[in-house]
Amino acid sequence: MPAIRRSSAFCAPRSARSIRESGTLPCRENQDGTLYSLNYARVIAEHIDPIEKKPLFHFLPGTRSYSIATTGCNFMCLHCQNYDISQYPRVHGGKILGDERDPEAIVAYALGSHSASISYTYTEPTIFFEYAQDVARWPGNTTCATFLSPTAS
Ligand code: SF4
Repeated sequence: MPAIRRSSAFCAPRSARSIRESGTLPCRENQDGTLYSLNYARVIAEHIDPIEKKPLFHFLPGTRSYSIATTGCNFMCLHCQNYDISQYPRVHGGKILGDERDPEAIVAYALGSHSASISYTYTEPTIFFEYAQDVARWPGNTTCATFLSPTAS
C-alpha cells in the first residue's frame, strides 16, 4: 500500500502546493499537477473506545468503536488536547508519522475487536478523508456504522 493516494476532494490542485507550503493544509500536495494525500493509511492513533466517548446521543449504547487518526489538522485550536499529533506535520516541516495500515487491516482489527463501528477522530478527520472513505467502503466492512468526529479533541 503506497503511503500517498491521489486526492479528489477539498481543494483545487492548482492551489494545493501553496496551501501545503503555507502550512494551512500540511497533508496534501500538488505533485506535477496531481493532488495527493500524504498521510494516507499512516495511522498515528488507534484505540477501541466506548461509543459513549463520541459526540452522539444514545446511538448503539454499550458498544465499542474502533477509533483511528492520522497526523495533521487544518485547524490550529489553542485548546487542542491532541496538539502533538494534530500539529506534528506543521511544526516538523511537513513530516508525516504513523504506522501503515491499509483499509483491509483497519476493518480486520475493528471486526476482531467486536467493535460495532469505526470512528475517524482525535484529529480533524477531513484531513484524512480519502483514507476514511476507503475504510468505510471496504467490501469486508460489516461494522454497523462509520463516524467522522469533526474537530475532535
Ligand atoms: S480541530 Fe481538533 S485536532 Fe484540530 S487543532 Fe482543533 S482541537 Fe486540535
